[in-house]
Amino acid sequence: MSLSEGAVLAGLGVGLISAVGEVHVVKPAAALPEWSKDGGDADAKKVALREAIDAVSKHLDELGEKAGGTSAEIFDALKMFLEDDELIDMANDAIDEGWSAAAAYGKSVDTFGELIGGDPTFAERVADLQDLSKRVQAHLAGIELGLELPETGSIILVGEDFSPADTAQFTPAVVGVITTKGGPTSHTAIICRSRSIAAVVSCAGAKDLADGDLVLVDPVGDRVVLSGDASLATKPISFIAVNDKPVIPVRANIGTLNDAEEAAKTDAEGVGLFRTELLYLSAATAPSVSEQTASYAAILTAAPVGPIVVRTIDAGSDKPVPFLNMPHEENPSLGVRGFRLIVEHRSFIEDQLRSLEAARQQTGREVWVMAPMIATLDETKQFAELARSIGKFKVGIMVETPSIAALVDQLGSVVDFVSIGTNDLSQYLFAADRMNPSLGALLNHWQPALIRTLARIAAGGENGGFSVGVCGESASDPAFAVVLAGLGISSVSVSRSQVAAVRNALESLNLGTAKEIANKVLKATSAEEAKAIALDALASL
Ligand code: PEP
Ligand code: MG
Repeated sequence: MSLSEGAVLAGLGVGLISAVGEVHVVKPAAALPEWSKDGGDADAKKVALREAIDAVSKHLDELGEKAGGTSAEIFDALKMFLEDDELIDMANDAIDEGWSAAAAYGKSVDTFGELIGGDPTFAERVADLQDLSKRVQAHLAGIELGLELPETGSIILVGEDFSPADTAQFTPAVVGVITTKGGPTSHTAIICRSRSIAAVVSCAGAKDLADGDLVLVDPVGDRVVLSGDASLATKPISFIAVNDKPVIPVRANIGTLNDAEEAAKTDAEGVGLFRTELLYLSAATAPSVSEQTASYAAILTAAPVGPIVVRTIDAGSDKPVPFLNMPHEENPSLGVRGFRLIVEHRSFIEDQLRSLEAARQQTGREVWVMAPMIATLDETKQFAELARSIGKFKVGIMVETPSIAALVDQLGSVVDFVSIGTNDLSQYLFAADRMNPSLGALLNHWQPALIRTLARIAAGGENGGFSVGVCGESASDPAFAVVLAGLGISSVSVSRSQVAAVRNALESLNLGTAKEIANKVLKATSAEEAKAIALDALASL
């Protein structure tokens, strides 16, 4: 299908910079050979695999050197995955079972990806690791995977999604990028943001663009327009702080000691989500109470001033913490995860709470504890009783399932606070796997069904006398954070890189104005309309 002049393609914008240029469609590379058992010499295949890994690793070094900055850091991290001993051992075992070297590595990366994919920090990296796996397999099969881009001109790259190895080959001619898949936290999005390249991701309609089409990439408008007219680009909002405090507190999300230290350099008012499982994703044996106490105490000491909301372990079959021996599940996000571990692993959750209480006493910090993946009132009561019997904490739960969202009015006498995990709440509300790059549009936080659900939870908190925070990625969008405040959300917790931007937005208006904006947004019938209403209202502040 060819598109006509002025056609508008909807997607998710990345950053605030727009660009006009000529479309350059990146075609998928030649297909890799099917995986099979080839019965060849196992030792020779192991040597060939090692050579292919070394070649890809060297290529990453070259690309990293060329790209520098954020890309170089990403390549270093990717090399660690690529050359991971456990991964290579797994592949060598598969070679011993008769699989070809390419199949053995590909299968092992799949298994490895399942192991790390459940963690939000790594979920998007699984796609990067899969790209490396393809590169190793291509090297073994003698297939070339280069991009071959012009050095001059203004081109807009169009493709399914771009890997770190692809983005490192972007030339200065690449002024814009459009992907048909890939979400707002994909590698493409991160790189385009850091290199100020105009980008729109999750733009399914871009599959109809052809080489040479002149397009405007308009990230602020979440769209691509088939036209060369730069004046059609949607203007970004520049928030101007008028108060010296945000209308609701902005806290930081952390997972490690380094995160806590970095968050303390921002103006975050404490921590709204400490993802404890990030400390244990590769732990083969359970940490003792004294080991846990020491790590938690160091993190509590380093964390920014304010309350520290600690989440008990959110492991599950898709985020397996090795020492918990989680069984493989067909549908892991609907499986035994988060607080559901209480049945098989009660003692670990108790130990965690004991360690947190000891760390709280040692450091004198204000610690709030919450359980993830709560679905019923009964689970809420179980956790609240357990936590209160162990420590002097404020006690709460994460609201991530539609079932507990429906019961918020019954939580008043049970919890001190709730924190909404919009990443999972969207996944379960829309029946859309949060790791599926094709479903970015459903996972857009401007979806009216999500916004209305948030409004109901906020009202439940107000009636029940407990605070309602939001700690999912949605809160890191400054305009959305304003809407959250207007909906009655009492605090937000955001990636540390977003603390300043979100604070600035929340310092630009008073609560009454935020409420007026939220009330208008609640009438929207689509994500695009909701965002447009909010941006319009914010632009005329
Ligand atoms: C969420 O689901 O929004 C959340 C904050 O938890 P996580 O991303 O760790 O699942
Ligand atoms: Mg979650």
